[in-house]
Amino acid sequence: MKYLIVGAGLFGSVFAFEAAKRGNHITVIEKRNHIAGNIYTKEIDGIQVHQYGAHIFHTSNKKIWDYVNQFADFNRYTNSPIANYNGEIYNLPFNMNTFNKMWKVKTPQEAKNIIDKQRIKLGDRKPANLEEQALSLVGRDIYEKLIKGYTEKQWGKKATELPAFIIRRLPVRLTYNNNYFNDAYQGIPIGGYTQIIEKMLNHDNIEIKTNTDFFDNKNYYLQNYDKIVFTGMIDKFFDYQFGELGYRSLSFQTEELGIGNYQGNAVVNYTDDKTPFTRIIEHKFFEFDQSNPDKTIITKEYPEDWYRGREPYYPINDVRNNQLYARYAKLTKKVANVIFGGRLGLYRYFNMDQVISAALATVHTEFGE
Ligand code: FAD
Ligand code: UDP
Repeated sequence: MKYLIVGAGLFGSVFAFEAAKRGNHITVIEKRNHIAGNIYTKEIDGIQVHQYGAHIFHTSNKKIWDYVNQFADFNRYTNSPIANYNGEIYNLPFNMNTFNKMWKVKTPQEAKNIIDKQRIKLGDRKPANLEEQALSLVGRDIYEKLIKGYTEKQWGKKATELPAFIIRRLPVRLTYNNNYFNDAYQGIPIGGYTQIIEKMLNHDNIEIKTNTDFFDNKNYYLQNYDKIVFTGMIDKFFDYQFGELGYRSLSFQTEELGIGNYQGNAVVNYTDDKTPFTRIIEHKFFEFDQSNPDKTIITKEYPEDWYRGREPYYPINDVRNNQLYARYAKLTKKVANVIFGGRLGLYRYFNMDQVISAALATVHTEFGE
């Protein structure tokens, strides 16, 4: 079969790799001037720079961990971000180190007592929004200093207008454990992420065309391929006929500095509402080889509104958007030769492991295994 893959990100590349292995002919088109989508990393002076924000691979699924390890060796990086609230420094995720700094408590019971006093109690009712969810999980102090400002900057909306699930991504622990994730497997590929995609797409049956936008020749592509795997925006595919889905955009400001150590950690979140960026990442600390003592590279991440023409980094999966997406998803049945995949095609706040898992599920459906 002749497949067209729209988007050389993780979803499209896993599909291309698996389909090529099975003897199909694949053309991958990518509108950017490079492959790898948002996991793209570029080496600058021996430092792997995450061009589209910090990417830490983590999963509880051993199969997915083994799968991704075919394409790179991973280091044992553990994400332990720091929060800076107007100069006060706290550990993340919310754990005994955070609670000790906030309230001077030393034992889990002491921390629990304070959280219980501050928590709002919802009874059997589900939290109606992110603010209620946060207040019911960790109480007012943590919410005010570490969640509200960051969240409202990140999403450009009041926490009372955001879905609760977003904050449930973060663990709350009564242990002294600064590991941001609960997953069994975690790390950063030694040598960066781009090699993973290069290896996936390195096959005689795969042709790659960068700087090529599907929408410049949509009808041609629809007519000339047996099947299309589309990982771009689903609302744009259908000419926004029901209106635009909501997205959040970002801009990244990268600086090369002539010092060896700028902030002493890979990720520092600025959780106040005045600082215009949400976080600064210092790329060298994702890796264990810090052989460059006189140089470091940092990236500030500024959340921005999305409008047509900007990069849609985050789908905003609130009720309105999910209902709108459901209407678009129904339309996909009318284009039987197009498979929609990835964060934008399925309009889901997917992590990398979930993207690989979704792509492999699509492969199995497609090839009947
Ligand atoms: P993408 O990587 O977006 O790939 C889609 C590709 O399609 C893009 O290259 C795009 O240019 C191309 N494309 C779109 N439209 C067209 C078109 N019309 N024609 C041609 N090409 C087109 N996940 C984690 O697991 N851990 C993390 O720490 C993490 N951190 C993140 C930080 C940030 C700031 C962001 C934004 C995401 C993060 N993620 C993280 C999520 C991760 O980036 C995604 O899960 C993954 O990259 C999604 O892969 P994808 O193939 O669905 O999408
Ligand atoms: N969050 C927060 N304070 C922080 C970090 C995260 O309130 O210091 C909230 C915020 O709403 C964010 C969500 O938790 O959108 C999920 O955080 P995560 O780090 O998973 O976001 P991502 O890496 O996907 O941007």
